[in-house]
Amino acid sequence: MTASFDYTGHGTGTSLLIEGATIVSMDPQVGDLARGDVLVQGARIAAVGPALEAPAGAERIDAEGMILIPGLIDSHTHMWQAPLKGLGAGLWGAADYSRHVFPLREKFSALDMHEATFACGVEMLDNGITTVLDFCHNVMTPAHAEQSIAAHRRTGQRILFDYGMLGAFDTLAAEHGWRLAQIRDLAGGMEPGGLLRLGIALGSLEYAGLDLVRTEIELGRELGLPMSFHQNPPGQIFALHEAGLLRGDLLPVHANVATDHELSLLAAHGCGISFTVEGEFGGGRPMSIISRAHRAGVTPSLGVDIPSRVALDLFAQMRLTFQVLRNEEATVERIAGRWPLARRPGTPHAQPRHMLQYTTVNAARALGLGDEIGRIAPGLRADLVLLRTGPYGMSLGDPAAHVALQSCAADVDTVLVDGRVRKRHGRLLDLDPAEAAAATRRVRERVLGPAHAAQADQAGQADRAVSA
Ligand SMILES: [Zn+2]
Repeated sequence: MTASFDYTGHGTGTSLLIEGATIVSMDPQVGDLARGDVLVQGARIAAVGPALEAPAGAERIDAEGMILIPGLIDSHTHMWQAPLKGLGAGLWGAADYSRHVFPLREKFSALDMHEATFACGVEMLDNGITTVLDFCHNVMTPAHAEQSIAAHRRTGQRILFDYGMLGAFDTLAAEHGWRLAQIRDLAGGMEPGGLLRLGIALGSLEYAGLDLVRTEIELGRELGLPMSFHQNPPGQIFALHEAGLLRGDLLPVHANVATDHELSLLAAHGCGISFTVEGEFGGGRPMSIISRAHRAGVTPSLGVDIPSRVALDLFAQMRLTFQVLRNEEATVERIAGRWPLARRPGTPHAQPRHMLQYTTVNAARALGLGDEIGRIAPGLRADLVLLRTGPYGMSLGDPAAHVALQSCAADVDTVLVDGRVRKRHGRLLDLDPAEAAAATRRVRERVLGPAHAAQADQAGQADRAVSA
């Protein structure tokens, strides 16, 4: 069946026909097409179906042998941290992070925020991540926020910019006022329906306290902004509920120690949770939360979180998350004496396709954009990714499983954001990876000092020498 969208009043703009792809739409009405076409008009998807007619003059993309998926969506990353890539490798627990990585944020100038955010956005777009919730918990001056936003406008990635309320710990209350005032100013300047939207990264309850956080939530609700918060110590979801503050516009991150009661509260409000599996799992946190949340109707989504430690790559996160979920389920079976593993009703629950749900439909919903992105269906924004399956070919069975378990960032052939082709034949069209790398180098020189930057370069050369 061909699904189509009435374009009256939307302005058609340019037309683009993607032809002959295996389409994994993640949309319940459209479903999967073993071989199908997508017509893009302007910023939106106009039609999905087999053998579509292209309007005269339409650009065409031959997608033979490729899988078309919705653009991937990261629901929690601190993009300012990208130049610190590698600094968090091998961290052991939160104490290491607090000692070696987090304090560096105070050395970032507004210019560093711009260049770091730009470099991060370029790399994520290159890797098929069309949308990010940038949890910017480094707004040390108003210019830090302005420059981060300016970088997002340069990359043209779809961004929910979550303005960070967590400044330096000793001046949180004293500097609360200007941050709230800047959020109000920025909200007034956002163009409705644009690529860039504003949200609030709430100050963590354990640092900021309930009174400050309550003021932030009240402002967010007054301005209609989605909000997100790090949920690390136990009991915070219940505390927000008790304070009458828990609603569907809040996105908790991690929540590894949430109780079943807290999950039922989140489900009642239609909340999701953003899981940043590589950091959480590698840090020894309890991971049963993901399937507990999923089964309770609290939709999981995924994020890279800390680029100092985790690659800017959602394919890696999907694959890791699936194995973590399966291992958790197998552990339950083994402890109950049901070993070796055998299927029984409801077990195993986690399926490879769920991982693509987490990084598309669920993440779109988590960002408050569930009606705009995250699926391939007529009327939605054309944020799309084509994945190569060659030269060795596609997996047997579910193509979504190929995406979650067999694909990698190097397979990303084509990327569209808002109907614009940003990457084609494996190369970014209007952004230069070398420019991103140069920006990263400059941030390192300024933040870590020239000696550290040179050391990093030497280490890179030594690696290349060994591999040559
Ligand atoms: Zn985080």
